[in-house]
Amino acid sequence: MKDCIFCKIARGQAPASVVFESDSVIAFEAAPGVTSGHTLVIPKRHFESVLDVDPDIFKEVMSVVQTLSQKKVGKDGVTAVNILNASGKDAQQSIFHLHVHIIPRRKDDGLDMWIREGL
Ligand SMILES: [Zn+2]
Repeated sequence: MKDCIFCKIARGQAPASVVFESDSVIAFEAAPGVTSGHTLVIPKRHFESVLDVDPDIFKEVMSVVQTLSQKKVGKDGVTAVNILNASGKDAQQSIFHLHVHIIPRRKDDGLDMWIREGL
């Protein structure tokens, strides 16, 4: 898609700190990141979200998510990861090109991903 920032990154037409690239998938550092090492994994082809992505492409994206997550844990104090996707405006999706967040977690990092209404 012409004006999509993630399509531009996938084509090398916008700056990004790329950490992985294959024919169909690219991963780059989130800027700004929620935690150090926060990474976004996207298909190079434009899909809006998990609701419209080609299932085979989504499998490739998630395979990269798994591999990169496995590489992060055990390095730089990372002990765990959150894998996050927003699909749709009411899920707080802000860039409408499918992306999966890898958010590295460290013991006692103070980040609470599960703030529940009424608690
Ligand atoms: Zn796009």
